[in-house]
Amino acid sequence: AVYRRMEEVEEKVKSYLTITREHAEAKARQVDEKIAAGEPVGPLAGIPVAVKDNMCTEGIRTTCASKILYNFVPPYTATAVAKMDAAGMVMVGKTNLDEFAMGSSTENSGFHLTHNPWDLERVPGGSSGGSAAAVAAGETVVSLGSDTGGSIRQPAAFCGVVGMKPTYGGVSRYGLVAFASSLDQIGPFTKDVTDMAHMLNVICGHDPMDSTSANIRQPDFTQFLVNDIKGMKIGVPREYMADGIDPLVKERIKEAIQKLTELGAYVEETSMPHTDYAMPAYYLIATAEASSNLARYDGVRYGLRVEDARDVVDMFMRSRSQGFGDEVKRRVMLGTYSLSAGYYDAYYLKALKVRTLIKQDFDKAFEKYDVLLSPTSPSTAFKIGEMVDDPIQMYLQDICTIPVNMAGIPALSIPCGLANNLPVGLQLMGKAFAEGTLLRVAYTLE
Ligand code: GLN
Repeated sequence: AVYRRMEEVEEKVKSYLTITREHAEAKARQVDEKIAAGEPVGPLAGIPVAVKDNMCTEGIRTTCASKILYNFVPPYTATAVAKMDAAGMVMVGKTNLDEFAMGSSTENSGFHLTHNPWDLERVPGGSSGGSAAAVAAGETVVSLGSDTGGSIRQPAAFCGVVGMKPTYGGVSRYGLVAFASSLDQIGPFTKDVTDMAHMLNVICGHDPMDSTSANIRQPDFTQFLVNDIKGMKIGVPREYMADGIDPLVKERIKEAIQKLTELGAYVEETSMPHTDYAMPAYYLIATAEASSNLARYDGVRYGLRVEDARDVVDMFMRSRSQGFGDEVKRRVMLGTYSLSAGYYDAYYLKALKVRTLIKQDFDKAFEKYDVLLSPTSPSTAFKIGEMVDDPIQMYLQDICTIPVNMAGIPALSIPCGLANNLPVGLQLMGKAFAEGTLLRVAYTLE
């Protein structure tokens, strides 16, 4: 059914970079045979899933939407993808993204644009725009994305689906191509909160292959799907409802707050005083880590290598300048600069201190509140081309989502009505490893 749907809409939406139909049909047959033979199949057997193309898949091209990896076929599979495979799920394709997950609109893909299924002239958000659009357009049932500063939650909001960034360390990053290692997390896109609970059950858990993977017992997330939030305390940080937020988005969020109050939750305004510093600190930390992580693309071991290089340095330089797009180059330069001797203390180290202050804002808020609530994004989906020449404006897209990655906590975006016929996203943020609490609140809003 999803391939039939792809035949109808993929030409217009363009969610995918690679469609893995043969692989999927072989897997589906294998599941069928097991069922016929009475053998056990996994809990999500036969469910189609799409995977952001920055997660390694053995034998299947993995490009990160970068020309520098146009021909890269990984020899191993990311743990999150392997876990879905073990659960019986069928991977139907690899989805489009901003090159190396750097962006908020999927316009930085080195290959093609993805269109928002709600309005084809608009972006699907990013960087996991392909994964969000594929779920919204019915080209898969669920998908995986990655979120470094909002790349799951913002496209989920723009495309009217559910998206979760789990706690840092909750899902293994083994096989996720690194952008900013201290911020990156894999998470699912789904059509509703119930599917989200099932997906978390499959992908969360300890992995010895990732040294930052947390070794804690994960609950059965479906146990949180109860319609009861009586007595829960919810804080709404006023910095997340500031002037830059579209008034129609605010209206929808206020309606949701009203509903939560009627259901018996205590909702009140609070303050997170360091919120304004999250964005500048993020763009120092994320670019510093990216410049270091992307040093490995040199044309030597894999990926693009230019021909006729004069010598090895010429080969490095020309392969990188041909292979990387503008946004990636901008970030590598920024990051290299802020890590250089003489600037390290003034920029990078300072940003790490700011990160601690942001984390303390959250720690303090969670002494009082079970969850924090905000818009996911300041606006609804914007027009293709509207922001490409204005990186700062594009960076401001992530004002509500970035603090969460800085603190390493979980957050989820759920659909919250429409503004001018476009989906609005509502964000719920929780304590580390309190994904269940987020699901519980989100479930009552469906
Ligand atoms: N839009 C943000 C950035 O460009 C976040 C991207 C992400 O979460 N991968 O860095």
